[in-house]
Amino acid sequence: MARTHILGFPRVGAHRELKFAQEAFWRGESDEAALRGVAKDLRNRHWTLQRSAGLDFVTVGDFAYYDQMLNLSALLGALPARFGFTPSTLTLSQYYELARGNTAQPAMEMTKWFDTNYHYLVPELGSQTTFDGGVDWFFDEIDEALARNLPVKPVLVGPVTYLYLSKTHESGFDRLSLLPALIARYAAILEQLRRRGIEWVQLDEPALCLDLEPQWLDAFAIAYDNLGACGVNVMLATYFDTAADKARLVAKLPVHGIHIDLVRAPQQLDVWRAVLPAPTVLSVGVIDGRNIWRADLRKIVRSLETLKTELGDRLWIAPSCSLLHVPVSLEAERKLDASVKSWLAFATEKLSELNVIARALNDGQPAVEQQLAAADAALDARRSSGAVVNPLVQKRVGAVTDDMAERKSGFAERNIIQRQSLRLPALPTTTIGSFPQTPAIRQTRAAFKRGDIGALDYLERIRAEIETAVRRQEALGLDVLVHGEAERNDMVEYFGEQLWGYAFTENGWVQSYGSRCVKPPIIYGDIYRPEPMTVDTTRYAQSLTERLMKGMLTGPVTMLQWSFVRDDQPRSTTALQLALAIRSEVSDLEKAGIRVIQIDEPAFREGLPLRKSDWAHYLEWAVRVFKISASAVADETQIHTHMCYSEFNDILPSIAAMDADVITIETSRSAMELLDGFGEFDYPNEIGPGVYDIHSPRVPSVEAIQRLLERACEVIPAERLWVNPDCGLKTRGWPETEAALANMVEAAKALRAKLAIEALSESAVPG
Ligand code: GLN
Ligand code: ZN
Repeated sequence: MARTHILGFPRVGAHRELKFAQEAFWRGESDEAALRGVAKDLRNRHWTLQRSAGLDFVTVGDFAYYDQMLNLSALLGALPARFGFTPSTLTLSQYYELARGNTAQPAMEMTKWFDTNYHYLVPELGSQTTFDGGVDWFFDEIDEALARNLPVKPVLVGPVTYLYLSKTHESGFDRLSLLPALIARYAAILEQLRRRGIEWVQLDEPALCLDLEPQWLDAFAIAYDNLGACGVNVMLATYFDTAADKARLVAKLPVHGIHIDLVRAPQQLDVWRAVLPAPTVLSVGVIDGRNIWRADLRKIVRSLETLKTELGDRLWIAPSCSLLHVPVSLEAERKLDASVKSWLAFATEKLSELNVIARALNDGQPAVEQQLAAADAALDARRSSGAVVNPLVQKRVGAVTDDMAERKSGFAERNIIQRQSLRLPALPTTTIGSFPQTPAIRQTRAAFKRGDIGALDYLERIRAEIETAVRRQEALGLDVLVHGEAERNDMVEYFGEQLWGYAFTENGWVQSYGSRCVKPPIIYGDIYRPEPMTVDTTRYAQSLTERLMKGMLTGPVTMLQWSFVRDDQPRSTTALQLALAIRSEVSDLEKAGIRVIQIDEPAFREGLPLRKSDWAHYLEWAVRVFKISASAVADETQIHTHMCYSEFNDILPSIAAMDADVITIETSRSAMELLDGFGEFDYPNEIGPGVYDIHSPRVPSVEAIQRLLERACEVIPAERLWVNPDCGLKTRGWPETEAALANMVEAAKALRAKLAIEALSESAVPG
């Protein structure tokens, strides 16, 4: 019998119950008991869902009050020493201080979990780190499930991935020196599981899907040689990419099962098949844990039939990775278009899909013919739907030529033309797009959405906000103005709502970190722009001022990256469709007299594949679609782009290849380190390194900004430098925004004066 399990279930709850319970606890409105009660209910509900869907195991240990890596640090007893907490008596309040900081200590660092939009708390390890054990929450949860007589399969992030993702503040400290102690702690944990009669434990090692240096490969061998003999069967779980290049190594380990991601890397199956030792279980991840489409069940069943014959009971069926990355249930979606809804499967629906696959394999397809037929019908409907395939878009995509990705002239020529036509001063000042989203602005948007105010009223109020933003910028003396984005709730949603091919859920929440959830829109069909999206607003903003008004758009890669993307065509094709829609918008803005247009790509780097060998392909199409979106304009029109969360020294050639006339980037927190990269690489176009950090309300001094700018001048010629904050200002208030921008403008003016004097004295030198 093929068995079924999941690697993890979303913990937030179908209605974000965990978020609200956490936040009430943080505000002091509820106590620890109340929060624990909500958490317990959620766990039990999720286990019940797994059991009622007929899964062979319930997964325990995927719950976390904030993050699974933080939970693991708390279980191991490896807390950052700077907090001074005793691991074994850690309270929930202290746990949250680790995650969110307290008056004395900043929070633990947070970073992206592989290539997902989930963020984990980075373990802080050092020579003083011991793994003497911490809280027992993990075991309590297991006992909770055992008390219900459930078939429990606990899950933990494995030791090598844990260590690999950790960091240290001690220079020269080698994290791998902690491996023996760490393995000993895992062995002790496994021993506790054995005593509870646990048959299988799942250890997640997604690090196995990265390009690893030899010492990390050795670490795998050492860790699992030890853990494989602890008396509990170890299911070593890999996901997010192929682990086939490590198959020989893994096959030699005394583990009892291996999970592989066949959605992201179907080609790896044959490799594993060839090396899998006789008793080892193979768990195949065949349901997409990263996306929301109903699976092609019949195709999956067919693809597994021989494998089932070969492996028999040693075949397990699973989603590709934890379901953490998809929303909880479709049940809560009442407004979603009925057809689109019938094409989707969220976490709960995916549980049933697993069950159908297993039954088809175990009992034969006739046993589940009805369910298979329903899946076929949904798939057929999706394939043939007029909402998915739009001939207008198909025609346009078919007509794309390479020259559409090129500006009319090269940067050097454009630059001369733009200087003549835009007449900007040296070191021009600008902002990244959004201005403070005041309560009044939010209320206006909400009132309009609820239907409490009419379209005309709404338009007037938004226009009033734009006017305020313009007047303030004029008073500050900024050179290139923005309209302020008051009408936008979110930079992807705003455009998605106006494009065909996009759908939005009411409750499709996915945890991003802690209590923060996002609701990614769904791209289900060909992307078509029925009419201009920003032209009226931008034209109005320009009409208020003599200064240049910058149009503000979200780029194709970011639109793609922050959405659930259709899986029936390559992502690059969907990105191309988005690019064509944005290209039309750029043209329309130009026709409306807008001479500077910014196409934001903050998610450009996030799209990079996990494996370096896949980078070139991604970068090639990502650069191309950006250029297609940007290149319809005349040489006079200046195209900007903006990227945040920098760290892109390793992709600088691609950033340069995007050929934006100006790029504004986040640099302030890394103290211009990044600019060194741009300097060394000799980045050819204009750059606006962020001169202050908008994530903090602190107002930077004129001197501090000027110092940063002078540093920047050392690596980038002053004639190619712009002056701007490092990101949009929507999370800030007006008082600090105005104070900071006033200082920024003053710093730019002071430096302009200084440079002018230097230039004069140079030209005065005889000879
Ligand atoms: N134009 C957007 C803003 O200013 C850019 C946001 C971002 O980079 N994430 O808000
Ligand atoms: Zn940004």
